[in-house]
Amino acid sequence: MADSMLRDLSCEDDYDPDSMPVDRARELIRRYLTPLKATERVGVRAALGRVLAHDVVSPADIPAHDNSAMDGWAIRFADLAPLRETRLTRIGEVFAGRPFTGVVGPAQAVRIFTGGVMPRGADTVVMQERAKDDGATVVIAQGAVTKQGQNRRAAGEDIRAGATVFPRGQALRPAEVGVLASLGIAEVDVFRKLRVAFFSTGDELMPLGTVLGEGQIYDSNRYTVHAMLTRLGCEPLDMGVIRDDPAALESAFTLAAANADAVITTGGVSVGEADHVKALLARLGEVVFWKIAMKPGRPLAYGRVGGAHFFGLPGNPVSAMVTFYQFVRDALLVLQGLREVPAIPTFKATLTSPIRKAPGRTEFQRARFSRDADGSYTVRTTGEQGSGILTSMAYANAFIVLGTDVGDVPAGAVVDVQPLDGLT
Ligand code: AMP
Ligand code: MG
Repeated sequence: MADSMLRDLSCEDDYDPDSMPVDRARELIRRYLTPLKATERVGVRAALGRVLAHDVVSPADIPAHDNSAMDGWAIRFADLAPLRETRLTRIGEVFAGRPFTGVVGPAQAVRIFTGGVMPRGADTVVMQERAKDDGATVVIAQGAVTKQGQNRRAAGEDIRAGATVFPRGQALRPAEVGVLASLGIAEVDVFRKLRVAFFSTGDELMPLGTVLGEGQIYDSNRYTVHAMLTRLGCEPLDMGVIRDDPAALESAFTLAAANADAVITTGGVSVGEADHVKALLARLGEVVFWKIAMKPGRPLAYGRVGGAHFFGLPGNPVSAMVTFYQFVRDALLVLQGLREVPAIPTFKATLTSPIRKAPGRTEFQRARFSRDADGSYTVRTTGEQGSGILTSMAYANAFIVLGTDVGDVPAGAVVDVQPLDGLT
């Protein structure tokens, strides 16, 4: 395989394609990822879940004016007597959206409500609980405020005009959408959605709606892959099931590469099947096959088909999901143009039942964690961990991650847990 990816990689001292550590594979994949450049303009609502393609600079101070942080009275701090109550004359009101147009002079007060624009002349707000008013005179309690400017929000205290609010590559979540709206920005440029073509390989795979013959199974991977891609904000291109036949695979790869930024396959990368996929992809692109030192999900192909990134996931349904989460998710987020790709969060929990494990590989056991009455977290596996048992993923709310060097783990040990809920 005379290709540049493999040549680059095999020059590195610790490159062992037959026992590739998880972190190393992740890091190697990152090197070859060039993020999308193409953009499109969308309304701020439609921008949710997308990646900003330009810096957003604030056109104005937010808030635009000094305003009140309380319901109360806008006054001049200098008017307040430090050692007794102070009587002021009520000269008007401020309502949200309706400022007071006059000026607050000596011994005067203006009724003000939260968010109301500070009237000219006033510098401080007294909260309403510390004042009494009979409609004409306002009596302010002694010590109602202790310093000038109290209970007043300054113009620009949230965002200054001209400041960069969000950089290019920012993920747009509900808070960002709200900030854009607060700046009066109705549309933004975002990177276009990543197009990801995917297909399943295997003569045994049957579409839903057919009656299974002996040895046949329904193709579930295409449904989990479609679902995971959708959650990640990609545009999934479903290419169906492709038979284990070189000509069918070649035309599928060619079509996928011509239409997508990335191509994902499941199946056909285990021992015995991988050879003809290897031969085919050597002609159509550059592909590196690894045996990852992990369980489940040992075989993984990574590379390029034509101009598209290629991920060849194992066929076993659990392995396909685990490798997607551990390698593909991260890569697709980088390709989408995200500035900072969040790692899957990991926390510690106490194991309530023992786990048997051989050292030498990283394991991702399907598990359920829960929060105890005292606020600490415990975790247990979902039981049988075979890589064909897809219900182990469905019943799980987390992976227990056991590092390479770890062996058997007793009950009571503290282990790393990656929650699955909320995972993009
Ligand atoms: P393979 O990697 O092609 O050798 O497949 C490994 C195992 O996963 C076999 O038992 C396959 O039948 C099963 N498998 C492969 N692809 C799928 C799929 N799309 N849906 C469900 N099971 C699959
Ligand atoms: Mg197969």
